[in-house]
Amino acid sequence: MSLLEFDHVTLRFGGVVAVNDVSVKIEEGEVFALVGPNGAGKSTMFNLVSRFYDPAEGRITFDGKDLLKRRSDEVPMLGIARTFQNIELFEQATVLHNLLVGRQRHRKTGMISELIFTPKVRDEERRHREAVEQVIDFLDLQAYRDKMISGLPYGVRKVVELGRALATEPRLLLLDEPASGLSVEETQDMAFWIEDIQKQLGITVLMVEHDMGLVSAVSNRVLALADGKELATGTSAEVQSHPAVIEAYLGT
Ligand code: ADP
Ligand code: MG
Repeated sequence: MSLLEFDHVTLRFGGVVAVNDVSVKIEEGEVFALVGPNGAGKSTMFNLVSRFYDPAEGRITFDGKDLLKRRSDEVPMLGIARTFQNIELFEQATVLHNLLVGRQRHRKTGMISELIFTPKVRDEERRHREAVEQVIDFLDLQAYRDKMISGLPYGVRKVVELGRALATEPRLLLLDEPASGLSVEETQDMAFWIEDIQKQLGITVLMVEHDMGLVSAVSNRVLALADGKELATGTSAEVQSHPAVIEAYLGT
């Protein structure tokens, strides 16, 4: 059984077919990349997994279960975390606090007991702190831990967003353009982290990325899309040498 499965999924926005009869199976443990020109439907596929939209046709399953029966607020609870193409963090809070927000799905104690601050709550808070400190160490964010997001360089915010997703301890991590806006050196670091996320943390990664160097370096398989349609699926070398992909990129 695949971890995430799209089965003949179609989504239209008015006259635009953003995702056109796409079928794909993401296996547990792999790094899988979605590539394609702007407007290909890559972010929309993420938004379908996040349940921001209902597909017009098709099925989406996660871990064998019908994802379309879940609301968007239930998706993180299933173990699916994501980053956004445009970074979405709390600007007026520290790195530490942004990562603690990522722990929300694991919180068991209710409002009342939090007000009273029972030993159980203290225990739980300590566990959240430990989990977040591990992410800070993993991503080498120690120097930024107590800094406000609004004052941080773009490259660091990008890593913090990755950290916030990791703090949820997901089974599936969706990364929307993890290298966009990063320098060559920062992109290299991002590649190492994605590898470590797969190999050390055992998390399945589905990413959208334009940088084919990064895609080739980290992904096991790639799906190339154009105008919502699948052009080719395979290794990055197979996909890049596929005639339909070459044609779509040349715009002929
Ligand atoms: P990509 O991420 O591959 O660049 P998108 O998934 O963002 O592409 O968009 C796919 C197509 O769907 C584009 O034609 C885009 O204009 C359209 N689209 C995406 N989101 C919406 C929306 N919320 N409303 C209307 N059209 C949309
Ligand atoms: Mg996009």
